Amino acid sequence: MDDELNRREDFPILSRTVYGKPLVYLDNGATTQKPLCVLDAMREEYLNVNANVHRGVHWMSQQATELHEQARETVRRFINARSTTEIVFTRGTTEGLNLVASSFSDAFLGEGDEVIVSVMEHHSNIVPWQLQAQKKGFRLRVIPMTDEGVLRLDEYERLFSPRTQIVSITHVSNVLGTVNPVQEMIRIAHEHGVPVVVDGAQSAPHFKIDVQQLDCDFFAFSGHKMYGPTGVGVLYGKENWLDRLPPYQGGGEMIENVSFEKTTFERPPLKFEAGTPDYIATHGLAVAIDYMTSIGLDRIELHEQELTRYALQQLSAIPGMTIYGPLDTHHPSPTTHHPAPNTHDAVISFNVGAIHHMDMGTLLDRLGIAVRTGHHCAQPLMNRLGVLGTVRASFALYNNKVDVDTLVAGIRRVQKMF
Ligand code: PMP
Repeated sequence: MDDELNRREDFPILSRTVYGKPLVYLDNGATTQKPLCVLDAMREEYLNVNANVHRGVHWMSQQATELHEQARETVRRFINARSTTEIVFTRGTTEGLNLVASSFSDAFLGEGDEVIVSVMEHHSNIVPWQLQAQKKGFRLRVIPMTDEGVLRLDEYERLFSPRTQIVSITHVSNVLGTVNPVQEMIRIAHEHGVPVVVDGAQSAPHFKIDVQQLDCDFFAFSGHKMYGPTGVGVLYGKENWLDRLPPYQGGGEMIENVSFEKTTFERPPLKFEAGTPDYIATHGLAVAIDYMTSIGLDRIELHEQELTRYALQQLSAIPGMTIYGPLDTHHPSPTTHHPAPNTHDAVISFNVGAIHHMDMGTLLDRLGIAVRTGHHCAQPLMNRLGVLGTVRASFALYNNKVDVDTLVAGIRRVQKMF
């Protein structure tokens, strides 16, 4: 059992203290720490080859462009897209989802149309659609879930109507840790001739993504949640969709020809990449991906699953503990590359007795334990659960059982204070 990857030395920040206590970082669902190789690569690029990409004839610009375009190829391989023309660099998942909501709505949505989302979406997969719905007069239909935090596929099938134009769903819930059966949901949507957007913010960091196997039409994720820098993310889109969508923003880099009478646009992905991209960050993201693949996505998944299973067991034994989301974890399968649907991934949300989640988070912080508290940008889900917020612990490849034991001891200590 490979339950210990032992890569903590790659992340110097993990050896710092907070309030005199060794840091236990369990807020990886919000953002992960960065390995030295990523920080070094970005510093090296700023020090030695910094120049704006795409436009320059000079040597440094060409070097920087090459690193940027190599990063696109690294991302393509990472998610097994057919072509680099299907890889759009964004600022993160939020921008990717806004891009699809805005461009798809411009091209295809009108009064009376319907967009299907789920009750467990992050605000970034609700609000962009609502903003467009206000302009175009379409409406959102919402897939409900069971009390265990599992999407109701029977209800999902019933939501389709002749007005359904697109489905936008999260792969893994950032609150419940539920791995949604997106492949099955995509198959059902395609039977209705409807494309699917997958929010991969909480899946891409944890297990192998194969966009061709999933057959999703769009897939958005963030670099900073998978050991890469902030400010960079990816929107994958099938070529036939990206070709048909209008640009999201206008500016330099995305045009073919501009006159005051008429502008023609570049082909994808450049059509969706107005302005100077964060080319240092795209390089950093590529190094982060190489770091993950050098360890092995299967090993990362195995390790995090082992840790999630252990944490669910240990946390469940605490009196007064309520854990939200499914209690089953999955056994990683290197052959299918898909965790079993409706199992629990590396995010655990909970409340303990009547202790307010903010009190729990604040007191754990004093013990050096960094967890997240609140609604986790998923207020409709909080309403469904009937809570104002939860405490959330989320794992990355560098966490270990000692972190879980420290969390459990910390919770028990806080409990004694109440
Ligand atoms: N979707 C999910 C499921 C998330 O967990 C997050 C980040 N909390 C986002 C979208 C938004 O990601 P970002 O802030 O990196 O754009």
